[in-house]
Amino acid sequence: MKIIRSPKKMHEFSREARLKGRSIGFIPTMGALHRGHLSLIRRARRENDAVVVSIFVNPIQFGRNEDFKAYPRNLRQDARLCAGEGADAVFYPSAPSMYGDDFNACVDVNGPAEVLCGRFRPGHFKGVTTVVAKLFNIVSPDVAYFGQKDAQQSIIIKKMVSDLNIPVRIKVMPTVREKSGLALSSRNAYLSADEARDAAVLYESLLLAKRLIRRGEDSPALIIGRMRQLIGSKKTARIQYVSIVDLKRLRPVEKIKGKVLVALAVYIGKIRLIDNLISAPRGKGHTIHA
Ligand code: AMP
Repeated sequence: MKIIRSPKKMHEFSREARLKGRSIGFIPTMGALHRGHLSLIRRARRENDAVVVSIFVNPIQFGRNEDFKAYPRNLRQDARLCAGEGADAVFYPSAPSMYGDDFNACVDVNGPAEVLCGRFRPGHFKGVTTVVAKLFNIVSPDVAYFGQKDAQQSIIIKKMVSDLNIPVRIKVMPTVREKSGLALSSRNAYLSADEARDAAVLYESLLLAKRLIRRGEDSPALIIGRMRQLIGSKKTARIQYVSIVDLKRLRPVEKIKGKVLVALAVYIGKIRLIDNLISAPRGKGHTIHA
């Protein structure tokens, strides 16, 4: 497996693969890889001739008071995990090689990037779409794999690809969880044992919402109230948002009639965690990617 550090070399790798008629599967990540990332790599391995994983802690998607500096970094271990899954290349660029001194351009999807997490992390999704557009240009994959764990991100990237005619297929894979239900995240490493126990309440509250929706409860306010109550029973939990939105524009629905996204962001101690699931009333579409 190759570790490629320069965008130019990465571009050459991809061009060579394409000339040989090899399809490229791509998994963009920020490293600190866990089983969630590995499930995406494994899927890409099954479906493509060449597999590229990028590892880049993207400075422009972090807010001023966020954890850019503290974000866990461990190239050696990540490279070992990628090799173990049969990846052909890890793209590991430096920040200066991605953003020169007078970097100016950006990609902004607006609408769906301004709600849910976007309300609390201004500029975050603009940073994500800008780097993903750059990575798509550098790697030129046929298919790119994303996790349902970051549902809003996947929806925004699909919109970017469709609006800008970027010739990449986007596949969204199910959230990989701990036994407790806690969605795997690189940030889980910061949780104490007590906090990790409390953090399971995120998924418990999502399952509560799913049960109510499946049973025909159609009032988002009632469901959100029940979820808030459950999450509030944990000492270390502080809710940032709990929302039930449509799957396209990510706007709150007034009444649940079909598939909805139930999404939340909750601080457990100092650590901000997100999770979500898609649900629908029984008979109105299957629950997927729970
Ligand atoms: P990150 O390194 O956090 O930027 O994540 C890279 C990719 O892995 C994104 O598409 C995430 O949605 C996906 N991912 C992160 N956590 C999980 C998880 N628990 N299950 C499935 N995919 C995940």
